Amino acid sequence: MRNNKHFRPTKAIIDLDAIKYNVLQLKKHIHPNVKIIAVVKANAYGHGDVEVAKAALEAGASMLAVATPEEALHVRKHLPTVDILVLGYSPVSFAEYAANENITLTVYSSDWVEEAKKSCNKPLKLHIKVDTGMHRIGVTSEKELRSLYEKIQSAEQFILDGIFTHFATADEEDDSYFQKQANRFEQFLKALPEKPRLVHVANTATALIKDARLQYDAVRFGISMYGLAPSEFVKSKLPYPLKPAFSLETELVAVKQIGPGESVGYGATFTAEQPTYIGTLPIGYADGLIRKYSGQDVLIDGKRVPIVGRICMDQCMIALPAAYNIGEKVVLIGKQKNEEITIDEWAAKVDTINYEVPCIITSRVPRIYYKN
Ligand SMILES: *Cc1c(COP(=O)(O)O)cnc(C)c1O
Repeated sequence: MRNNKHFRPTKAIIDLDAIKYNVLQLKKHIHPNVKIIAVVKANAYGHGDVEVAKAALEAGASMLAVATPEEALHVRKHLPTVDILVLGYSPVSFAEYAANENITLTVYSSDWVEEAKKSCNKPLKLHIKVDTGMHRIGVTSEKELRSLYEKIQSAEQFILDGIFTHFATADEEDDSYFQKQANRFEQFLKALPEKPRLVHVANTATALIKDARLQYDAVRFGISMYGLAPSEFVKSKLPYPLKPAFSLETELVAVKQIGPGESVGYGATFTAEQPTYIGTLPIGYADGLIRKYSGQDVLIDGKRVPIVGRICMDQCMIALPAAYNIGEKVVLIGKQKNEEITIDEWAAKVDTINYEVPCIITSRVPRIYYKN
C-alpha cells in the first residue's frame, strides 16, 4: 500500500490483487504458449499505468502496450527492461527516441520507414499494423504490405518483430464482420515471405470468447484486466468471473436539512417536497463526475441515495435518508455492505461504455493502490 498525503477525502482505490487475478485467470484460459500483452494505454484506462503494469507483469503478462510515444516513455522510466509496444501512430521524429529506450513501434507506411532510417541508426523493433476492416490505421493491401516488409528488411537497423490487426466487432453477437476480418488477416499473413516473432490480433473479447486459433502468438488484454466485460454480450459468455479493480470513494463534508420548496445547486433544479437532509460531496465535474451523472445513486451506510441538483465543478449534493455525520464514508463506485454500484451502471446512466468511465476520472483524483 503506497500512501502519499491526501487531504481531500476523494480518491480512487485500485485493487492490484484484482488486476493480478484477472491476468492469472486469462493465463489459465489461453494456450500456454500464448503471451499476454497488458494494454495500459490512457494511464491504464484511468487506473494508473505503472502500478497496473507491474501487477500484470507479476501475474504473467510479458509485454505492455500503450497508445502514444509519451505513454511509452512514462512507463519506460519506471520499468527499464520490459517490452513496450506503441499501438498507435508515432511520428518519424520519435524513432530515434524509441530506439534509445527500446520501445517497439507500430508502422503502416513505407514512407515512414524510408524517413525514419535517416534519423534512426540504432536497432528499432517494429510491428506492422494491417487494416482488415477497422479502417483506422494499417496497410490495406498485400502489395502495400510486401513493400513495407521489404523496406523494413532492407534497413539493417530495423527489426520486424510483429504483425497485427484490430477487430471492430469482436464483442458483438453477430460474427460476420469479425469473420471477414479474421479471414482477411490470414490472406495478409500468406502474403508475407516470413512471419515475424509475434503475430497478434486478439483484444479482450477475442481472447475470451472466440476461436483459440485467433490467439496466435499473443493476446492484447485490456478491459477485462480491469475486471470489466467488453460488452453485455461478452459478459453473458465470460469463461470465468472478473474482479473489478476500480472503486471511487469520498466522505460527506457538509450536512443540512432543507425545507419543502427549497432547492439545491446551480439553476435550483432539485426542489425538496418535504424536509430533506442534503449531504455535500467534495467531487465534481472537474474530477470527471460529469454533469450528466446527476441523478446517479451513490452508497452511504450501505444504502443507495441519489445525486440531486446539478453537479458543480468541485462538489455535488446527495439526498440523505437521515442526518449523517460529516466524515461519513460515501462510495460512488464499488461495494459498501451488501450494495454495489458498478462502472457498468455509471456507463448506462450516461449512455456510454464502461471503458470511458474510469478513463475520464481526472488526475485530480488520487489513485490509491491496494494489495494483499
Ligand atoms: C485498446 C486496444 C486494445 C485493447 O482492447 P480491449 O477491448 O480493452 O481488450 C487492443 N488492441 C488495440 C489496437 C487497442 O487499441
